[in-house]
Amino acid sequence: MKHTPVLELQQLSHVYVNEKEASLAVEQIDLTVDRGEFISLVGPSGCGKTTVLSLLAGLFPPTKGQVLLGGERVEGPSPKVGYMLQQDYLFPWRTIRENAAIGLEISGRKTEKTLRAVDELLSELGLPDAGGRYPHELSGGMRQRVALARTLATEPEVLLLDEPFSALDLHIKLQLEDLVHQTLKRLGKTAVLVTHDLAEAAAMSDRIIVLGRNPGHIRSEISVHEHIRAAAPMAARKLPSFQELFDSLWAELDKDDGEGGRSNG
Ligand code: ADP
Ligand code: MG
Repeated sequence: MKHTPVLELQQLSHVYVNEKEASLAVEQIDLTVDRGEFISLVGPSGCGKTTVLSLLAGLFPPTKGQVLLGGERVEGPSPKVGYMLQQDYLFPWRTIRENAAIGLEISGRKTEKTLRAVDELLSELGLPDAGGRYPHELSGGMRQRVALARTLATEPEVLLLDEPFSALDLHIKLQLEDLVHQTLKRLGKTAVLVTHDLAEAAAMSDRIIVLGRNPGHIRSEISVHEHIRAAAPMAARKLPSFQELFDSLWAELDKDDGEGGRSNG
């Protein structure tokens, strides 16, 4: 049986235009993501990772090409897509429950029933008693878990994650990688993670897309071996073949793309 991929990026190019200039940020990105897949976009700063996520989210239209979500052209933001950022952007004057429910509120779906689901989600994410508290009472890692609950509360099919762990201390980050991975796999969500942390990409993903810059383009795709995929991120990092995967990613990024990525005096 043929199935429609959840996401298709077709010949995607984007030019940012301002009064002074036009700059080509990404060029000819072709990518297909299957339902339930967890993919990562890695690459040097400025290679267009955030631009690609923004196009996936429908925040602005691509200059060329198109994004299909479940076979339909993306024309703007969709409730099927949730976005989680490095910054948690919780409202300080709202309780944790009210923060987590904000997407539901905006989309007119805040009811007693969905609020109970929010409480359940908070509890599943290890915050059973946090609902009535305020953001300033929580640690950075807890706040990111609230941000995840808020993203999941509206039940998106696809989660876009832009460096969601990069502001956290290492051991919190590792715990959160496991929690996010386990939660998204359990719920069968499709995820696109942007990260500059190669080990994180290797530990969390089914497939890793390596981007190059000037302009942003896909350099290569690395499929993660089944036994690394099957392990939770923290356990995956300890597998013997993990280092090999990390090294091949590193080598891929380190290849000279002839764009002055390296200084030679
Ligand atoms: P990454 O997330 O990989 O660091 P971005 O997608 O943020 O890369 O940026 C890709 C390129 O597009 C960079 O050269 C950046 O300077 C440029 N760019 C990003 N956002 C804008 C914008 N709003 N206006 C003009 N140029 C932009
Ligand atoms: Mg970025």
